[in-house]
Amino acid sequence: MGSEVRAVSAEQVALRDRLIDAGHLIPSGVDGVYGHSAAFEDLREALGTRISAEARTRGATRLTFPPVLPVRQLEATGYLANMPHLAGTVFSFDGDDAAAAVQGTRASAHEDWSEFQAPTGVALMPAACYPVYPALARRGPLPAAGAFIDAGGAWVFRHEPSTDPARRQIFHQHELVRAGTPETVLQWRAQWAQLGLDLLTGLGLEARLDRANDPFFGRRGRLLAANQRAQELKLELLVPIAGPEPTACASFNHHLDHFSSTFAITGAGDDPVHTACLGFGHERIVLALLARHGLDPDRWPAEVQDRLGAPR
Ligand code: ZN
Repeated sequence: MGSEVRAVSAEQVALRDRLIDAGHLIPSGVDGVYGHSAAFEDLREALGTRISAEARTRGATRLTFPPVLPVRQLEATGYLANMPHLAGTVFSFDGDDAAAAVQGTRASAHEDWSEFQAPTGVALMPAACYPVYPALARRGPLPAAGAFIDAGGAWVFRHEPSTDPARRQIFHQHELVRAGTPETVLQWRAQWAQLGLDLLTGLGLEARLDRANDPFFGRRGRLLAANQRAQELKLELLVPIAGPEPTACASFNHHLDHFSSTFAITGAGDDPVHTACLGFGHERIVLALLARHGLDPDRWPAEVQDRLGAPR
């Protein structure tokens, strides 16, 4: 079978309920889809500003993309084979007056109306770095120093409904992307593994770095996951939120030449082009901070507030 069903602990459900009672999470009726309080969003935006500032001082260029991408790009990356259980594709009405009437009647009775829907050619963004690779390819050959892009905190969708407040169906992923020679990309990842660790520990979180693998689908997926771990292609920054296990609050993915060959990103010289990305989960980091320092950010230690640059 495909995806494992992730167990949700009593502590995770209890944290979700406390966050809802405190007004930080506004439930929608669908697991993993929440609104946020002003205090939650202030923290999330402060975190995004801080990450972007760290990236900008190290030469990153900011690019912004919408939360949907062309299905053709998703097809090209292999996502629909490797993570079919997480993908969300956008469908829209495709029919005549009679079909619209039937759809309306069924919809108002909450019955199935999906037969009147057809693919639109766009999908919800599964990872905020995906639109960066074709954008880099459009520029022509990379400069000798490669490219460093800050894609900001962008909405991403993953179909994994859960009552764990840290496992969202839609959330902000703040992606930094590096493209260049294999050596450049490896050095960048090592530098940012330390910077990411320093950023989170500086906010009073007990972060540690570990090897990881993506939740690939099915039998072939288990091979991909084993390979990813053996080659140390994916690293995660793990932080306690609600027990029993710590939660990945940031992940580093070394893609080797997967995206550069898929989207024809070429280099300045003869060296192959590799890419890597670093994605911070905004909501997970805010949840970790609320779980660690308490649900009232005004009462957090002053140095945590200062480091986050949050308004006081
Ligand atoms: Zn990425």
